[in-house]
Amino acid sequence: MKKYIMSLDLGTTSVRAIVFDRRGNIVALSQKEFTQIYPKAGFVEHNPLEIYSALLTSITEVLTLNSINPEDIAGIGITNQRETTVCFDRNTGIPIYNAIVWQCRRTARYCEELKKDEALCEYIKENTGLIVDAYFSATKIKWILENVDGAANKAKSGDLVFGTIDTYIIWKLTGGKAFVTDYTNASRTMLLNIKSLSWDEKLLNVFGIPKSMMPRLVACDEQVGFADIEGVKIPVCGIAGDQQSALFGQGCFENGDVKCTYGTGCFLLMNTGEKIIKSEHNLLNTVAVTRKGEKPQYATEGSVFVGGAVVQWLRDELKIVSSAEKTEEAAKKVNDTAGVYIVPAFAGLGAPYWNMFARGTIIGITRGTGRNHIIRAALESIAFQTNDLISALESENKSKIKTLTVDGGASKNSFLMQFQADISDLTVLRRKNAEATALGAAFLAGLSVGFWKDKNELLKLLGKSDEFKVKISEEERINRIKGWSKAVKAALIITEE
Ligand code: ADP
Repeated sequence: MKKYIMSLDLGTTSVRAIVFDRRGNIVALSQKEFTQIYPKAGFVEHNPLEIYSALLTSITEVLTLNSINPEDIAGIGITNQRETTVCFDRNTGIPIYNAIVWQCRRTARYCEELKKDEALCEYIKENTGLIVDAYFSATKIKWILENVDGAANKAKSGDLVFGTIDTYIIWKLTGGKAFVTDYTNASRTMLLNIKSLSWDEKLLNVFGIPKSMMPRLVACDEQVGFADIEGVKIPVCGIAGDQQSALFGQGCFENGDVKCTYGTGCFLLMNTGEKIIKSEHNLLNTVAVTRKGEKPQYATEGSVFVGGAVVQWLRDELKIVSSAEKTEEAAKKVNDTAGVYIVPAFAGLGAPYWNMFARGTIIGITRGTGRNHIIRAALESIAFQTNDLISALESENKSKIKTLTVDGGASKNSFLMQFQADISDLTVLRRKNAEATALGAAFLAGLSVGFWKDKNELLKLLGKSDEFKVKISEEERINRIKGWSKAVKAALIITEE
């Protein structure tokens, strides 16, 4: 009987190979960072070959340093940074250009142009669940076709293909045999029709992308090929984009389950089952983990651009705290922020405001304001922004969210989690296993090969969580949210002439 599942977590700044045992525990982990390439202001790229090479090193390390025999690995699951775009030669696997990273704003101006076409925007929202933005893959592919020598011709002749990072890495791992992407990753390209789960011909035409460039669409637990790991053929049998993988890895299997990942930014996803709930608040509709033979599953997604990053700002720019962990202690040293609010709109505000020109603001400073108040207000700002998303979700679903499961680096901060529970009037559940993203892909691979039986078994593996229950009064909550709303107004004023 095989002992392990390996999850490959292809993040934005690093790749990780993580080995899980039958109880869903991490047995071994190896992580490698790779280069962030900034060719000019607003441009962000990765070298896909460097990502692959870092991944191979991680896989070798995780096995050899921990004496794990590849024969003991039942299957491989893949989870990845979404939207990041690779165009490569279908015969050689050589990329014709660096990967254009989701953060890259090079197509922002073109997107502004597109936004003038209301009918097109409505079509995109209705059929892809997304709002026109440089974030998604479609305009990045178009940029490569128009700006890289020979790209358009190569695409026409069928030799050039597109993939997100999952596609590219799976192509490499299977020696070019599998050219695929799963529905969750595909739903972030702005080219997938999320109702029919097929590539949208109209949008391919709008962006001038030949259909022959597009990978085959697969379910998240489909066995797509074999990776040759030290001469052992291991099935690649789980794929999901990072946020959908985290939703699954948190055990949010039911319609109405909500998770938030508190990393550099925060990502809130609600499982909406077989329903697409069209948002009035600029939240996105995305495909959630969908398994073989299952009807398409959906999620509503909202994100906060500056989450844990506000803590990095306290540490690296203001230099008022020496490490992220120390913010908890500092925040607890004062009873409240003494009326101070920080809105970390460093690069605009996302849902539900969607204002790219808003800028960061601190309000309510008095002569008595000190370091700890600022630190506390910064932590609270993460929860206030997340709460804006939660409120938007609640009003769209016409139901109260009672529980929020959490993961990510900043979720380790218990002050922040308690404040989230208080301000959002819900119970926060923090699972013991903080690696929800990698675990989601492992779950998928494990289910696919029968390593784990069903979702019930997975829920048992997740075990107990730390619980944060509401401690403040309704009156206090309302007052605090009023204060936050005023601060957001101040952050938005900056955009006015
Ligand atoms: P990512 O995957 O986006 O790189 P992580 O999940 O690794 O993010 O979380 C890192 C982020 O969490 C950083 O922005 C860091 O400032 C923040 N962070 C980490 N630990 C804490 C903590 N104890 N309190 C508050 N923020 C934290």
